[in-house]
Amino acid sequence: MSYIEISRENFFYNLNQIAAKTQSKEKIALVLKDNAYGHGLNLMAKLAAEWGVRHSVVRTMAEAAQIRDLFETVLVLSDTPAEDPGQSIRIAVNSLDQLRRIPPHTSIELKVDTGMHRNGIVSEELTIALDIVGARQLRLTGIMTHYRSADEMGSDFFWQRKRFEAVRGAAEKLGVGDIRWHSCNSAALFRTQCFDEDIARIGIAAYGCLRMPDSFHIPHLKPVMTLWAERVATRNVRKSERIGYGGEGQVDSGMVSTYDIGYGDGWLRGNAANPYRLPDGRDLVGRVSMDLISVEGEDDKLCLFDDASEAAEQFNTIGYDILVKLSPDIRRIVV
Ligand SMILES: *Cc1c(COP(=O)(O)O)cnc(C)c1O
Repeated sequence: MSYIEISRENFFYNLNQIAAKTQSKEKIALVLKDNAYGHGLNLMAKLAAEWGVRHSVVRTMAEAAQIRDLFETVLVLSDTPAEDPGQSIRIAVNSLDQLRRIPPHTSIELKVDTGMHRNGIVSEELTIALDIVGARQLRLTGIMTHYRSADEMGSDFFWQRKRFEAVRGAAEKLGVGDIRWHSCNSAALFRTQCFDEDIARIGIAAYGCLRMPDSFHIPHLKPVMTLWAERVATRNVRKSERIGYGGEGQVDSGMVSTYDIGYGDGWLRGNAANPYRLPDGRDLVGRVSMDLISVEGEDDKLCLFDDASEAAEQFNTIGYDILVKLSPDIRRIVV
């Protein structure tokens, strides 16, 4: 069966590079949403805890419930619990409306929209938000924002950061007290000269697939995931014969094998007219099926990619997209 290899060494290497930038292990909040970017939630959470990560970030309460015992805090980005989930779970609040619905005593981190215009309250709503926090007996543990283009050249990152600093000044005047402040994702952390916030929310860099323009001089990171498929069958195909659905595949006679991965596993179907090229230089032959692909040769196993960012380029997308689509049912093994 197809399987995913997780390199513990590369993961720890990346975490070390990140910690050098945050200047402390304790300031890393590892983002484990969407099955840990496809790497496997429980497995990556365990490895992270073993290395010394203390804070984590997920999307849902269901994800938080699976890993909460491994971390001091779990920040839930996009879910509202039915009752106070306890102090280690912190709920990111994305709107005043959510603030009014969240159960009393819940620990919350207020998201402020500084320019992405997706989630969060606007800075003019800060006073009213803090009033609601007080009136509803919520426990404010942090204020956060998110950058829209930290991974691209341009000034957006800087003016958003300025706005967040202004929010901080205003909130401190309103007496928010000792809470944690955080704005950085992977790209923003590496663009920050002297990181001085309380945590950085790190996803893609930890998985070794952060892509940024060369001029940013980010440290080299190592991809954690390698995707493999295993051979199902091999046949000798003549040039006149066509392979797979629609008969779109053709080779100069020789051995062609099928391997057990397809779009049903989350591998992208792509376009047979512009086939995916494997890391070893061979192209997929014909259309990608639901559970199978065809390739010339007869190796027992096949490496689909050892760097999701490189695979992503061929599909005109980003590494995140390749990674998160991979089915949770694919076996993950730590090497
Ligand atoms: C996904 C996410 C992150 C992590 O971003 P990376 O680019 O993977 O480091 C950080 N913050 C928020 C709010 C996110 O949704």
